[in-house]
Amino acid sequence: MKTVYSPRHLGHSGNMELVAGAIVPAFEMPSRADFILSRLDEVKLGPVIDPTEHDFSTAARVHRQDYLDFLPTVYPRWKAEGRDGTALPFTWPTRGLRGDVLPESIDGALGYYSFDAGIGMVEGSWDAIKSSHDVALTAAGLVQGGERAAYALCRPPGHHAGAAFMGGYCFINNAAVAAQWFLDQGAKRVSILDVDYHHGNGTQEIFYARSDVQVINFHADPMQEYPYFLGHADETGAGEGEGFNLNYPLRWGTSWESWNAALEDGCAKLADYAPDVVVVSLGVDTFEKDPISKFKLTTEDFPKIGARIAKLGLPTLFVQEGGYAVADIGVNAVGVLTGFES
Ligand SMILES: [Zn+2]
Repeated sequence: MKTVYSPRHLGHSGNMELVAGAIVPAFEMPSRADFILSRLDEVKLGPVIDPTEHDFSTAARVHRQDYLDFLPTVYPRWKAEGRDGTALPFTWPTRGLRGDVLPESIDGALGYYSFDAGIGMVEGSWDAIKSSHDVALTAAGLVQGGERAAYALCRPPGHHAGAAFMGGYCFINNAAVAAQWFLDQGAKRVSILDVDYHHGNGTQEIFYARSDVQVINFHADPMQEYPYFLGHADETGAGEGEGFNLNYPLRWGTSWESWNAALEDGCAKLADYAPDVVVVSLGVDTFEKDPISKFKLTTEDFPKIGARIAKLGLPTLFVQEGGYAVADIGVNAVGVLTGFES
């Protein structure tokens, strides 16, 4: 299996986030990709290639144009205010406030285009975001060109980013852009299988009223876990999209047996839908030692996930999402890929 990777993610570094009342270095850090890269080399999964540049025409079919236009301006505007460090929002248009008027102030605009403060940006962030988008589309091109599967080693991740908002370390929804690209190339139906510990709220929001993309999420119950405000089982789609969004919220402490039961059910629903291609939002923060998560999957479980996805017998694009047990992320993420190949 080929991997697409860009070292340009390294510019998205040194950013801070607010966790449990303290400003700390973001858990979503560059070494995550380094550990995956070195593990790919250890197991000789296949060639690692550079992405090719893509414009944002496909991204603009799943994101709002004004949001895409805003992203590259964030840090220059932050600097223009005489600031350095990490650009972070601190005010959001919740119930009772105006969510329809974009403030002139950079602080107001950051709140308007986000749902949390987990999106710290620094000087090199935009270039990393752009390269992550290019990585996803380049890997999608490999699958479209006839490869059985490809791995997009995206950083930053994407599944929390919605049509017009960032959040949860995510800016452009790489998996959603790739799914849209497959449709634009002629696919009739695409399934997104999101195995990250956290609900992929952005992906759900983007495709909620559509029937051409089936979105299946296995994740920690939003009653207990971030992102808290989406991901319940009764969110099944709207209008034409009714029945094409599937959520499997699972309680803290979930281990392989119950996680796998959800996966089996989701895979059966996926097979019924009969997509032309599968996009896997590959998070490995379900791991028992993940510092921000509370599931109990072990290193031995990850290859089984890959093997089950392979059994679907469909062209498959893996898009890297979360995973914060940095020393183990390489073994676990690549474990899914080797499990797929075996
Ligand atoms: Zn996650």
